[in-house]
Amino acid sequence: MIDLNKLTIKKARELIKNKEVSCQELVSAYLKKIEEKNKEINAYLEVFDDAIKQAQELDEKIKNGEDVGELAGIPLAIKDNILIKGRLCSSASRILENYHATYDATAIKKLKRAGAIFLGRTNMDEFAMGASTENSAFGPTKNPYDLERVPGGSSGGSIASVASGMAMAGLGSDTGGSLRQPASFCGVVGLSPTYGAVSRYGLMAMASSFDQIGPTTKTVEDAEILFNVIKGQDKMDSTSVDYVKHSVSNISANNHKMKIGVLKYDRAGVDEEVNKALDDSVEVFRKLGHEIVEVDPPHIKYSVPCYYILVPAEVSSNMARFDGVRYGLSVGGKNLIDDYMETRTKGFGNEVRRRIMLGTYVLSAGYYDAYYNKAQKVRALIKKDFQKIFEQGVSIILSPTSPTPAFKIGEKSNNPLQMYLEDIFTAPAKIAGVPAISIPAGKSKSGLPIGIHMMASWFEEDTLFYLGKQYENATASTLA
Ligand code: GLN
Repeated sequence: MIDLNKLTIKKARELIKNKEVSCQELVSAYLKKIEEKNKEINAYLEVFDDAIKQAQELDEKIKNGEDVGELAGIPLAIKDNILIKGRLCSSASRILENYHATYDATAIKKLKRAGAIFLGRTNMDEFAMGASTENSAFGPTKNPYDLERVPGGSSGGSIASVASGMAMAGLGSDTGGSLRQPASFCGVVGLSPTYGAVSRYGLMAMASSFDQIGPTTKTVEDAEILFNVIKGQDKMDSTSVDYVKHSVSNISANNHKMKIGVLKYDRAGVDEEVNKALDDSVEVFRKLGHEIVEVDPPHIKYSVPCYYILVPAEVSSNMARFDGVRYGLSVGGKNLIDDYMETRTKGFGNEVRRRIMLGTYVLSAGYYDAYYNKAQKVRALIKKDFQKIFEQGVSIILSPTSPTPAFKIGEKSNNPLQMYLEDIFTAPAKIAGVPAISIPAGKSKSGLPIGIHMMASWFEEDTLFYLGKQYENATASTLA
């Protein structure tokens, strides 16, 4: 029997191609696992009842020798903020509890064309705001490694489903760390692509100048496979770009040597075992023959405050469309203003409301210059820091993904500042718009996964994949 906890897209494609397993058998195995595990983990908000039918149709096509696409039969979990036509899509919010998507997100369209199978839609922090998946209106997701702990967030459902063998891979979104931080908490891979590499059409907007759809997978190679399917320019998203034209590959040989910049950070503020995992990974790269240097971008320390001004500003504007008139929940009041108030009070959870208020404040007439404008200027400085480092020949910037391994459910939910500090290593990439990935780097003594984080220059996902695969190969025996 196939071990679903280990099965990769790469391997499954071979099995399907060689007719060692049918799409239906594969999907049935995942559905069985979901049946066993989802109750306790709460990764899926809905399991699609036509998953088997999708698989049968593919098997039929394969039998008839039809061209079925490069992801034929690959069962995926989809975060609940990515639209699949005709299906519920709620962003884990009461306000959209009964909302049905009227079109496919471009990434979904591409996956459908490639023959992927959608197992269900997964839990998340409401509208992707959070770092623990506790902000879901439908209950928290649990970490598969310890059910008393969070899986991270906001893409906690997709990540936990991959980590527990309830999906082969999945899609999530990353605005400030939502794919990478949970990936590090659950021992899987999470990729946040270069801003503009993947179309945002059909992704429910949180902060539009930060949001990107990305894959979560078991291996770096699988992330590369999925990324290559979903990337590319789309006329429905004017911020998407022609990836092929922009992408840069600096890898000229199989054993190309690179300059790896290790981020200087306050080690006292980071868990000791996380520091050790990073040190160990530096040694791995050194042994592989890469040059190690320290990097200390001067403005990076302002990333979290800069992020938590700009993101709420964009959130407050994006959330304005949920007014009880056009979408989802509608609660009647005494007059129109009252309708808005009632709907939004009943429809939104605390974190969403907090961000709408913060965002409205930093954009308001008297404070715009002091907060929003200033943060935009800081954003430009942080971008310049990155540019400079990459121009000096540094290929990637290496750091921890998160300051600690997974924390306990309830530990930070009443302390927004503590929760925001989860993003300390992941937010900078989004401020600059560069691609970043979290890769498993072993476990703590108590058995909790730890991730390392790599950032590359704009459109250099290739570098992340190259070094990521090298790292996985070099550590396969020790980290298993
Ligand atoms: N934790 C971050 C936040 O709450 C990131 C969320 C995300 O990437 N969607 O904003």
